[in-house]
Amino acid sequence: MIGMGIETSCDETSIGIVRDGKELLSLRIFSQIDMHKPYGGIVPEIASRAHLEKINFLLEEAMEEAKVSFEELSYVAVTSSPGLTGSLMVGAQMARCIHMVYGTPILPVCHLQSHFAVLHLEGVPTEFPVLGLLLSGGNSAIYNLKEFGRMELVGDTMDDALGEAFDKVAGLLDLPYPGGPYIEAKALEYKPAPDEKPVLPPLLRNLPQDQVSFSFSGLKTAVMVLLEKQKNLSKEQICWNFQNSAFDLVERNLKRAVSKTGIRRVFAGGGVLANSTLQKRLQSWAEKNSVELFSPKKKIYCTDNGAMVATLGYYLFQKGYKRDIDFTVSPSRQEIFS
Ligand code: AMP
Ligand code: MG
Repeated sequence: MIGMGIETSCDETSIGIVRDGKELLSLRIFSQIDMHKPYGGIVPEIASRAHLEKINFLLEEAMEEAKVSFEELSYVAVTSSPGLTGSLMVGAQMARCIHMVYGTPILPVCHLQSHFAVLHLEGVPTEFPVLGLLLSGGNSAIYNLKEFGRMELVGDTMDDALGEAFDKVAGLLDLPYPGGPYIEAKALEYKPAPDEKPVLPPLLRNLPQDQVSFSFSGLKTAVMVLLEKQKNLSKEQICWNFQNSAFDLVERNLKRAVSKTGIRRVFAGGGVLANSTLQKRLQSWAEKNSVELFSPKKKIYCTDNGAMVATLGYYLFQKGYKRDIDFTVSPSRQEIFS
C-alpha cells in the first residue's frame, strides 16, 4: 500500500511517500530557516506564504522520485494539528485537491504522533503502550501513546519548549537562529573536568517527586545572569552548562514518567533530538535503567517531514480512520487526546 504525507505545520514544507508504512519511496523537504533567520524566530505570515509558493514543486518532485501515479495512492495523510493555522491550511488544501481530483481518502493527522510514527521507517516495531518524549521548537512533553490515534499527556512544559530555549539562549550569546546546532557545536568544544557538574541551578526542585514537568524559561534567565556576573566564562562553557542542565531535567522527567506509568519503552522525537549529546545521554540513561529507548538515527527524521505523516497515516488507514473533505485544522493539541 502506497501513501502520501503532507507536512506544513510550521517552517518546513514537505511531501513524503511511503510503502506499507515502512519503506520510504521519496521525501522532499523545503526548510524556511533562511527566511525566518533575520527575525530570530518564525514569522507565521512568512511561513504560510512560503508553504504556498513551494508545495506544488515539492509535490511534483516527490511523485517523480517515487515513480508512482496519483491513482496508486491509497491515502493522503496531512498534518492537521497542532501547528500554525495559516500554514496547516496550505497542506490541508493540497490534500483536499488530491481528494477532489483522484478520490484519494484523506487522513488529517496529529503532528505530535507523527514524530513517533517515523521510527517505523527505521525498523522499530509497533508495540504499545510506549512513552513518547517530544522535544522540539514548540513542544516539550511526555505522552502515554496507547496506540496511534490514542495518546494521553503525562507531563508538559510550564513555559518554553526546549528548542525554543536553545533558540533564545543562542540569541543571548549572539549565535545564529535556530540556536540548537550552534549551541551543540560550542558545547562540544568545551572540555569539562572529569567530575564537572553544570553550574546552572537544578530546576523544579520543589515539585512533588512524581510530577513530570518541564520548565526552561528559568534556565534561560540563569544564563542571562551568568553572562552578567561571570564575564570570564567562555561561550563554549556556557553552552555546555546550559545543555547539560536542560538534559538533566529531560532525564529526570523520563525517570519520573517511567515510574509513574510503569512503561519501560520510549519513542523520542522532535528537532532537539538532532542533538548528538542528547541522543547519547538518553541511550546511556536507558541502558542503565533497563528502558528500551528509540530515537531517529537520521537527523532528517528529527526535523518535521512528510514521511512521518505518511507513516502515521498508514497505521490510521488500516484502522479504518478517515475524514470528510470538510475536516478542520487547529493550532491546539486538545483534539488529539481522543
Ligand atoms: P522542530 O520544532 O521539530 O522543527 O525543531 C526545531 C527546533 O529544534 C529548533 O528550536 C532548533 O533550535 C532545535 N534543534 C535543531 N537541532 C538541534 C540540536 N542539534 N540541538 C538542540 N536543538 C536543536
Ligand atoms: Mg520546524
